[in-house]
Amino acid sequence: MAEPRRRSTIATRLLVVYAVTFVLVLILLGFLTERSARGALLDEVESGLTQQALTVADFVPAVSGEIQAWVDLVSDDIEARVTVVSPTGEVEGDSIGDRTTMENHIGRLEIDAALEGRVGTDRRLSASTGARELYVAVLGQSGHVVRLSLPESSVGERVSALRSELLWLVALAGALGVVVVAAVGRLLARPLVGLAEAASAVAAGDLAVDVPRSAVDELDRLGLAIASMATELGARLAEVEAERRTLGVVLDALPQGTLLVGADDGILYANRSLADILGPVPTTLGKVTPFRIQELVRQARSEGGPLDVDMEHGRPGRVLQVLVSPLDGARVLVVVGDVTERRRINEVRRDFVTNASHELKTPVASILASAETLQIAVERAPDRVPQFAAQIVSSARSLARLVSDLLDLSRLESRVMEREDVDLSQLVWTEVDAVLPLAAERGIRLISEISPLTVRGSAPDLALAVRNLLSNAVRYTEDGGEVRVSLHEDSERKVLTIADTGVGIPQRDLDRIFERFYRVDVARSRSTGGTGLGLSMVRHVVEAHGGRVGVESELGAGSSFTIELPSD
Ligand code: ADP
Repeated sequence: MAEPRRRSTIATRLLVVYAVTFVLVLILLGFLTERSARGALLDEVESGLTQQALTVADFVPAVSGEIQAWVDLVSDDIEARVTVVSPTGEVEGDSIGDRTTMENHIGRLEIDAALEGRVGTDRRLSASTGARELYVAVLGQSGHVVRLSLPESSVGERVSALRSELLWLVALAGALGVVVVAAVGRLLARPLVGLAEAASAVAAGDLAVDVPRSAVDELDRLGLAIASMATELGARLAEVEAERRTLGVVLDALPQGTLLVGADDGILYANRSLADILGPVPTTLGKVTPFRIQELVRQARSEGGPLDVDMEHGRPGRVLQVLVSPLDGARVLVVVGDVTERRRINEVRRDFVTNASHELKTPVASILASAETLQIAVERAPDRVPQFAAQIVSSARSLARLVSDLLDLSRLESRVMEREDVDLSQLVWTEVDAVLPLAAERGIRLISEISPLTVRGSAPDLALAVRNLLSNAVRYTEDGGEVRVSLHEDSERKVLTIADTGVGIPQRDLDRIFERFYRVDVARSRSTGGTGLGLSMVRHVVEAHGGRVGVESELGAGSSFTIELPSD
């Protein structure tokens, strides 16, 4: 906003305007008054002279030689100059000048008019006095013209006396005016000061300020306008604040960290997720970690375009996706997403596809090879046909198991588990019964200590997990070995243990056997009908039930798998 060149109060301004107007009006009034006063005075003097001239005109001596003496006599009583002119225009007598040197007066307006019998008047510069004169001439009975004249300056003296009288009056009126104007100025200024204070308070944020009312309509309207402005401002501010709060809630709900950096590198805004990802938010960009974010902000500013960069941060290392977008006025918006889990899932998925393809390829290749050999054997070595046919059947079974396990896995991972009350003891009994024929075939003893208990969960999923553990125990135990199944409950958990006296698992592999397709001994796994997916499904099911699965094993002595489920 432009600053006014000079500041002054209302009273001063009113006084200045009043003074200028007063002086201008005074000059105009003085000029007009003087002109009309002078005209009126001249008219008055003229009529006075006319009266005097008419009084003396009839007494002019008829004899020319006596006229000058008469003039001298008369002029003693008359203030004006007295001149007597003959009917032919000769000056017969004059109270001031030497008549003999005066020229013929025929042709002068007042003389000509008087000779015609009228009262002749004229106002002009006199040849004999050199000043402006007022002339009045009348015709006497003797035929002579009596002319009286006075300098106009004699009127001027009376006018100036009038002017000084007038001046005093005007000065008095002016002084009175000054007092009145100053008082009016103050009267107007006082409510304005109150209004100005109220407006300043509104500007400073005091929206509840009491705006003074005024009896002056315009000032009162101004006050009402300020009050309604404050109300309106309050409503707008409340709206803005509500919007800001909503935006804050929305931004805080975002999983991505959001950071707004100001032109001076100050942190203008940071949402809650940013602190979750990067730790406490500093007040300036210079303290933001990782340092790479600072570099990206500066780079985005100088290049004027958005940047999208992945970086590693912290221990344990997390992968951050950082989007940096320059906004107007050198501000920069930084959005930080923790994509560690997404990355891991992608990697797991990629590995899974690679592993699954690889696992599928083996039986398929075997079937193909056996089938081709079978074709040849039919003609050349029919006695070996049953052997190749058996190979095809075996490989097809492996393929079928693999596909079945993959379907089980996909079913487990793709749907929301339905929970019901499951009689876990009954479920375990069923699975033990199912594995009994195979165990018996191999001379493996199955010992069960099963307490009756129930859990909340999915019966088919739990059955799948128990089946896999039992099948593993039997498969990885030598003939004549032993498998012990126990199920019991304490105050905190329900524990199912399946222990065998089998081949055992090397310590270094214990952590990895729950991974998909991980097998300690691939050949043994395949030959016993394993797919490498069993334990990964067990872990998935147990974790989906809020429990955990563990293993203890000694190579050559046996393994013990434990499922712990939380008590309700
Ligand atoms: P598989 O189908 O190969 O059995 P699993 O996922 O069920 O796949 O098991 C992974 C690996 O863990 C097996 O290949 C095997 O090497 C080992 N394993 C699992 N259970 C036992 C066990 N009871 N005794 C010894 N090793 C086992």
